Amino acid sequence: MTSAAQQAGQSARHLGGAPVIRMIDVHKWYGEFHVLRDINLDVARGERIVICGPSGSGKSTLIRCINRLEEYQKGRIIVGDVELTNNIKRIDEVRREVGMVFQHFNLFPHLTILENCTLAPIWVRKIPKKEAEATAMRYLERVKIPEQAHKYPGQLSGGQQQRVAIARSLCMNPKIMLFDEPTSALDPEMVKEVLDTMVSLAMEGMTMLVVTHEMGFARQVADRVIFMDQGQIVEMNTPTEFFSNPQHERTKLFLGQIL
Ligand code: ADP
Ligand code: MG
Repeated sequence: MTSAAQQAGQSARHLGGAPVIRMIDVHKWYGEFHVLRDINLDVARGERIVICGPSGSGKSTLIRCINRLEEYQKGRIIVGDVELTNNIKRIDEVRREVGMVFQHFNLFPHLTILENCTLAPIWVRKIPKKEAEATAMRYLERVKIPEQAHKYPGQLSGGQQQRVAIARSLCMNPKIMLFDEPTSALDPEMVKEVLDTMVSLAMEGMTMLVVTHEMGFARQVADRVIFMDQGQIVEMNTPTEFFSNPQHERTKLFLGQIL
């Protein structure tokens, strides 16, 4: 662990103020299938939350509800001061604030790295091309691959592509970042470079919800770890408590399998 990472994980940060995400009694069904059950979660500004749990437990569904990639049928979700309803204008407001990084980077293969990063700023935000390119280069430098700007995604390694995906998200200047298993499609030697990027983002104070089974990352930077099973939040605790003193049998079983 680097000393910077230690600081990120261990410095006592003040996480006060109104929550930036509120999920209140949220339920979701896919047809008959009850995929999210009574989810209650408040996320403070600057907070880092890691979500883990078995495959199929609803982790992706939960975070996709936050930027309305999925609808829910019961309860409330409030992001910033916007309640998610069917009002598409308000959904756009929320999506402007919330960036998302997926397991499979979802870059456009026929566009260069720079074009991938400037597409949304130019066409959605109406930012002038030169300015969007300058911003994109700044973020590509931050994820340590400015020299790849004029290549195509297929010419980059998986780890580099995922760092581009993170830079692309940051170009939209989000206040919250959602990560859905960002390293699980990567070869092992590329996991660290992506996690390092995420650690540095955490240190800069980004509010982050990260679905991952990288428990080293959870220990390093998470303020809270959530364990989900069968659509429910079974356990939510600080990493220290979560790993040393899991409360539920299902959590113990899961940790026994992955640690
Ligand atoms: P996780 O990310 O924890 O693996 P998901 O949120 O992807 O879990 O999925 C939770 C459950 O919902 C799984 O049983 C999955 O098969 C089911 N599911 C996910 N997406 C859909 C969908 N679009 N339609 C029906 N069932 C779905
Ligand atoms: Mg998933």
